Amino acid sequence: MNFTDKVVLITGASSGIGAATAIHFSKYGAKLALTGRNVENLQKVAEQCHNAKEGNLKPFIIPGDVSNENDVKNILSTTIKEFGKLDVLVNNAGILETGTIETTNVEQYDRVFNVNVRSVYQLTNLAVPYLIQTKGSIVNVSSVNGIRSFPGVLAYNMSKAALDQLTRCVALELGGKGVRVNSVNPGVTITEIHKRGGMNEEQYAKFLERAKETHILGRPGQAEEVARAIAFLASDEASFITGASLPVDGGRHAMCPR
Ligand code: NDP
Repeated sequence: MNFTDKVVLITGASSGIGAATAIHFSKYGAKLALTGRNVENLQKVAEQCHNAKEGNLKPFIIPGDVSNENDVKNILSTTIKEFGKLDVLVNNAGILETGTIETTNVEQYDRVFNVNVRSVYQLTNLAVPYLIQTKGSIVNVSSVNGIRSFPGVLAYNMSKAALDQLTRCVALELGGKGVRVNSVNPGVTITEIHKRGGMNEEQYAKFLERAKETHILGRPGQAEEVARAIAFLASDEASFITGASLPVDGGRHAMCPR
């Protein structure tokens, strides 16, 4: 893979899968625009990207909250101002909240959908004219929860199913213009998301232990493993792949209880 001179915008680049994706793209010479709210973390990730390959530019950092419409406009416009073009958009920022139909509420639905779906809808809408110019590509970070149903994370499941539908629809709409659109659907991946979603250390340790049974490959995934799939889908190596939702989940999507 070669991303020399390709401009790649990654949301949620301050942590977990987004951070690993930024570092992975930087090994292939990409010019990176990284966004998130935690500027200190973004700077640490940017430093790692800078050091990943000789001659790499330091990534361009754009602080912002993707649930804020003005911030999303600013993320896209400053990326274009800095680099003059966009080749790859990675819609990765996301949040997880727990709630069943009995314990959820519309505020939870709005919080989860605003970050996981609405922001992607808005940023993609703004980015598409530039992606058409470069015949670029989009990779959305969905989840195994988008293609399978798990109890207790209702709004999250629904948000990821909506994201997969967005992937397919936009792929159909832009295929004729040379823009490819795909999703990755990770299984349990070791990042901050579960603790941020409410698990304490003990619950998280149990959850990771259980992941050995819930994933065919007998373990949870690492962020780098998802990053490699994202870079592949964004690259010319995937030149005939569009509208796909690619599980990166140690086989979890194929499992059924028995
Ligand atoms: P992390 O919590 O480690 O990272 C989430 C990222 O999203 C952070 O960079 C965070 O930035 C950003 N983010 C969250 N809310 C906002 C917001 N309102 N505005 C801007 N940025 C925001 O989680 P992961 O790396 O695990 O999550 C990345 C994606 O992967 C998500 O879409 C998630 O649903 C998906 N995923 C994760 C799985 C897992 O097991 N880890 C499994 C399947 C899918 P900041 O902190 O700077 O605001």
